[in-house]
Amino acid sequence: MPPRNAWLWFIVILALNFLLVRIFFPAADEALTVPYTVFKEEVRKDNVAAIFSQGERIEGRFVEPVTFPRVVGDAAEGTAAPRTGTTFTTTLPSFVDPGLENLLIEHGVEISAEPIRTGSGWPLLVFGFGPALLIILFYVWLFRRAARQGGGLMGIGRSKAKRYDVERDTRVTFDDVAGIDEVENELAEIVDFLKNPEKYTRLGGTAPKGVLLVGAPGTGKTLLARAVAGEAGVPFFSMSAAEFVEMIVGVGAARVRDLFRQAREHAPAIIFIDELDAIGRARGGLILGGSSAEQEQTLNQILTEMDGFSSREGIIVLAATNQPDVLDRALLRPGRFDRRLVVNLPDKKGRAEILKIHTRQSPLAPDVSLEELAAATPGFSGADLRNLANEAALLAARRNRNDVSRRDFLDALEKIVLGPERPLLLTREDRERIAYHEAGHAILGVLVPGADPVHRVTIVPRGHALGVTYQRPDSDRYNYPEAYLRARIVGMLGGRAAEEIVYGTRTTGAENDIAQATEIARNMVTRWGMSDELGLVQLAPKRNPYLSGDGGFAGEKPFSEETARLVDAEVQRLIRESHQEALRLLREHRRELDALVAALLERETLDEEEILEVTGLPAAPALEERAERYAVR
Ligand code: ADP
Ligand code: MG
Ligand code: ZN
Repeated sequence: MPPRNAWLWFIVILALNFLLVRIFFPAADEALTVPYTVFKEEVRKDNVAAIFSQGERIEGRFVEPVTFPRVVGDAAEGTAAPRTGTTFTTTLPSFVDPGLENLLIEHGVEISAEPIRTGSGWPLLVFGFGPALLIILFYVWLFRRAARQGGGLMGIGRSKAKRYDVERDTRVTFDDVAGIDEVENELAEIVDFLKNPEKYTRLGGTAPKGVLLVGAPGTGKTLLARAVAGEAGVPFFSMSAAEFVEMIVGVGAARVRDLFRQAREHAPAIIFIDELDAIGRARGGLILGGSSAEQEQTLNQILTEMDGFSSREGIIVLAATNQPDVLDRALLRPGRFDRRLVVNLPDKKGRAEILKIHTRQSPLAPDVSLEELAAATPGFSGADLRNLANEAALLAARRNRNDVSRRDFLDALEKIVLGPERPLLLTREDRERIAYHEAGHAILGVLVPGADPVHRVTIVPRGHALGVTYQRPDSDRYNYPEAYLRARIVGMLGGRAAEEIVYGTRTTGAENDIAQATEIARNMVTRWGMSDELGLVQLAPKRNPYLSGDGGFAGEKPFSEETARLVDAEVQRLIRESHQEALRLLREHRRELDALVAALLERETLDEEEILEVTGLPAAPALEERAERYAVR
């Protein structure tokens, strides 16, 4: 709740309180203080209903309200403002008035044994305690409201877990998920487990307690969990791990407790914790940002809860993470997340199916082949493919078409892969230099056996690049042969090599190429055992494939200075050899290089066929043919 609002309300309520008191207990009702003579006068007028006397003080009630001081003409008797009231107080004179009792009896004045409510009590009470009471009521209201909203002051220890509601939420089913069938099947089985436990436990097996979905971002982990929610037919509580943790230590743990309590009340149920790595980081490790104490407590609470229920209770904890290697080992112990399902990037067939799902709503032109698009998108995740389908549909709409054509898809793909075109005014010399640079990459992509085919080369600036040579594998690759890696390095250095051959000078344009080539070379030496000098020794930690940036051994390198020097030397050797090879091949094919540059300057963008046509080169030989013909040693 926004506090500013609360205070506003508070003030409004106080004002209302004041007004109400004024209306219902006007000041006039406060007892009038009248002189003894006035009192006696009223008795004689039969206008006094009852009195109560204590000592010298008399309290009483008039029959008809009396105004005092009386208004005589325009001026009031006395100085006080005249007031009207039905209750009064007066003081007996110090001399005893012996006739009073008789007078009272004569005029039928009731002499009360109880104090007469003089009217001064109530307003006092209201004025005195009313605001305090209202403040209390107000806070109660505030807390309840906050609690209802699940956040705020009272709700701080409540989990914000969203209970999945089949009625309310757009239902996701397994039909909306494609390309990750193995994981889908496993999850379907787990859902079945919850529904028919006897079927599985009959032979003494137990249900898994925790299932961890592991995979690159965008591979559909969250989607899968939502599909499980849609299919399971059991209560489904989902929460992102980041939501557990707030600034206050201990809140996360309380939320975890609450989440599991809710689930237990509704068992059989599924709990889904998304982005588990936000709290599941190895304890004691370096945590950047956020309170490590809080994370640890939250994590410990999850562990406790997971140990606390038996699989018979019918609760399964589903969790998803992009970074399994940063997870605390305790989480992965049997009895906790004992099943780990790896969600892989989809293969070609999977990509076609995913594209089919995401083009369900779009009318496709007859020339669109989803299989072709799937082939053109190796390495794309489900989220990337959805993005592609979406961009294509938007592009088609912008072009005022009634269906989405092949052209729209290819342009959308180009935009996604290469970045949007950037209008830049370049001098003639700059354009030529860029053309040579890109042509260098492209020619080597065609010449070097094992290199990925060049699909497109352009000197239209895109994204951060001044020109782009787009190469991609023909099929999904899972394992990279050494020759392929070397071919990649040679191709990457082709841009600089071409510039050197033609201009004899160097520019900054090769920065990215150099960085990538170095990265591959270093990995070949330190991780993939491709250096004869160093052998099959792991000299760098396995990187988290989903994290950009460098992992690096924490602290000391587990090898000697001498080895470090050797690594550097080997990396440099690989790069140098590749550079020499690039120079050699381009010098040999200078004619083709010039032809390609001329075509680029004229047409800006060339695709694979056009490159082969312009240069007269045969299509790149397949990797298998490379063995004898190509050996960088
Ligand atoms: P993750 O949680 O693994 O990072 P998401 O589940 O959030 O990825 O995926 C984002 C979106 O990408 C999904 O909402 C869905 O539209 C699309 N998507 C991802 N994977 C798939 C898939 N296998 N099948 C269909 N759509 C997918
Ligand atoms: Mg996700
Ligand atoms: Zn380059």
